[in-house]
Amino acid sequence: MKGSTDGLHFDTLAIHTGQPAEPVTGAVMTPIFQVSTYAQDQVGSHRGYEYSRTDNPTRSALQACLAALEGAKHALSFASGLAATDTLVRTFVPHGGHVVCGDDVYGGTYRLFDKVYRPQGWSFDFVDFRSTPPEIAIRPGTRLVWIETPTNPLLKVIDIARVVAAAHAVGAKVAVDNTFATPVFQRPLALGADYVVHSTTKYLNGHSDVVGGVVMLSDEDDYARLKFHQNAIGAVPGPMDCFLTLRGLKTLSVRMARHQESGNRLVEWLLQHPDVATVASPLHPSHPDHEIARRQMSGFGGMISFELRGGLDRARAFVAATRIFTLAESLGGVESLIETPALMTHASIEPEKRRAIGIADGLIRLSVGLEHVDDLRADLQRAFDLTR
Ligand SMILES: *Cc1c(COP(=O)(O)O)cnc(C)c1O
Repeated sequence: MKGSTDGLHFDTLAIHTGQPAEPVTGAVMTPIFQVSTYAQDQVGSHRGYEYSRTDNPTRSALQACLAALEGAKHALSFASGLAATDTLVRTFVPHGGHVVCGDDVYGGTYRLFDKVYRPQGWSFDFVDFRSTPPEIAIRPGTRLVWIETPTNPLLKVIDIARVVAAAHAVGAKVAVDNTFATPVFQRPLALGADYVVHSTTKYLNGHSDVVGGVVMLSDEDDYARLKFHQNAIGAVPGPMDCFLTLRGLKTLSVRMARHQESGNRLVEWLLQHPDVATVASPLHPSHPDHEIARRQMSGFGGMISFELRGGLDRARAFVAATRIFTLAESLGGVESLIETPALMTHASIEPEKRRAIGIADGLIRLSVGLEHVDDLRADLQRAFDLTR
């Protein structure tokens, strides 16, 4: 399209922001600038690009589009979600600084914090905000509060505005991992958060063909510091990955609507199922965080966790018995995935701690894809029957 995208709706921004027709040929898709360095007219005079670790046109287009979708002034892309997390934490938490982190975060985030930073001198409190209110967990001296909501895999919902108020009262910043909800359903910056992080590997790209991450933020000083570290550390995505993610973004809201519709139908069915002990879906009034979820989210997407009756052995057999649901880690793609957190995504958490935070041995996590929902339901029923 021509001209500015200011004031346009989400679906339009997703397709056009940062992506004017290419000026030389008129190509409507931003090209893959597969290049490392750029000709300079004279020493010190260039056209905005010098070296692709610092800036690359395909990455610039992606960053502009991502920022617009999250309602941020700026976005910086990284080679993975964890690279985004690593660069963010190292930029804003000085050595030895205190971080408060939700106790039910992505396993790789927990591993980075507990097994990499903690031994190097940073201090962490992993907190269940249901039992320890943010006003108590966050203390003077806390530099950063890291939350993921809805959490993975239990889909607990944390009150973002309340955490922000408690953090800002002591001068701490708040980062929200918005990977599960996506900006289609939740806008942490509008609730006062300082930084939003995504694994773009998941819903934002949505086609299970790229690993990537992003940090979105609006404060100019913080942006300058983070951009300096993005270049200085260098964990940037390649242009092909940026192109694919840009392409994925164009269908984000259409995909999320369908993930959600099918997810809702499967939740209703699983709630009635005799082989299911519990279903965790913030969508449902039976979920303990249903009220907060309704207040701060406009939808819930296609992630479902349920506890299968029969424990670890049946869970292991169940996830191998589905035909359409693929047994795999990750989530958010067009294809449905199934996994058992205790043996897979959350296996790096010690068994005792895992059970203490509520990840039962029989827990099954579904990422509901875009296949026909009747086929998905029949596939799960087949697995129930085969493992009975
Ligand atoms: C996958 C994931 C990450 C890590 O992202 P990578 O792209 O795999 O590095 C972080 N947070 C959440 C919620 C995730 O699902």
